Amino acid sequence: MKLPFQIDLKDKVVVVTGAGGVLCSMFAAAVAETGAKVALLDLNEEAAKANAEAIVKDGGIAKGYACNVLQRESIEAARDAILADFGTCDILINGAGGNNPRATTDNEFFHKEDLNQMKTFFDLDVSGVEFVFNLNYLGTLLPTQVFAQDMMDKKGASIINISSMNAFTPLTKIPAYSGAKAAISNFTQWLAVHFSKVGIRCNAIAPGFFVSKQNEKLLFNDDGTPTARTEKILRNTPMDRFGKSEELIGTLLYLMCEDASSFVNGVVIPVDGGFSAYSGV
Ligand code: NAD
Repeated sequence: MKLPFQIDLKDKVVVVTGAGGVLCSMFAAAVAETGAKVALLDLNEEAAKANAEAIVKDGGIAKGYACNVLQRESIEAARDAILADFGTCDILINGAGGNNPRATTDNEFFHKEDLNQMKTFFDLDVSGVEFVFNLNYLGTLLPTQVFAQDMMDKKGASIINISSMNAFTPLTKIPAYSGAKAAISNFTQWLAVHFSKVGIRCNAIAPGFFVSKQNEKLLFNDDGTPTARTEKILRNTPMDRFGKSEELIGTLLYLMCEDASSFVNGVVIPVDGGFSAYSGV
């Protein structure tokens, strides 16, 4: 993988949760290019291990671990295994997160005639809402509780959370995911302040709309023309296009690199082509 610029994280131990997934597997591969030892954690052990093996094949140092970010014992077991393999954590990337259809409305706006015709706000499933809040918020808080204990007063110690542009202004249909990511932005600021006396910086990236294999069917018709949702997204993105996931890497490296961002603490950086800055007028 070609990095936008080089930073040296040789001998640093970087823990990435959600590293079986689309964005965080790419983050892990980018981090490995800096010389760091990368621990890829995921509920999907097979995916974490396969992504780690691909990094090793490319000459990096990486290992995959099973880890449920919602179970403290599971995170502690991963921490112990990483300690034996690589040493204590220097940088934690809290990437595990996501939405759930049970916490999503069918329509953008509520109309009375929608009642009993489709899934409205009134039909949102409490367990779906809990799932989304737990995965995004507790799934960031619990790994931080476990790994930050080893990060105190380590040079270059840093936590990077993954928020979203829906944290600034909620997107239609996804109240729980938007609320949970707003909570992540808030928690990022809280942690930055809380850990400021023990030398752990905490910042977040707020990705905008990115095309991936998973969402490309929602965004483009079979003939490659944009769907109605895509047209709306692009109309509200001043740069007139989707992001490419590699465009997140520069911000990630900047936040990880002590030399570049040593006085940056508690920020949430949008990488969204101007989406969150645009009022639509
Ligand atoms: P993804 O679904 O591809 O990856 C998420 C990974 O998290 C999966 O591998 C999944 O197995 C893992 N996971 C789920 N529950 C877990 C648990 N309990 N314990 C451990 N791992 C668990 O998602 P992605 O698109 O790569 O997103 C990564 C992060 O970026 C998420 O926090 C997401 O909310 C955020 N984000 C993504 C986008 C986007 O456009 N893809 C935009 C904004 C924010």
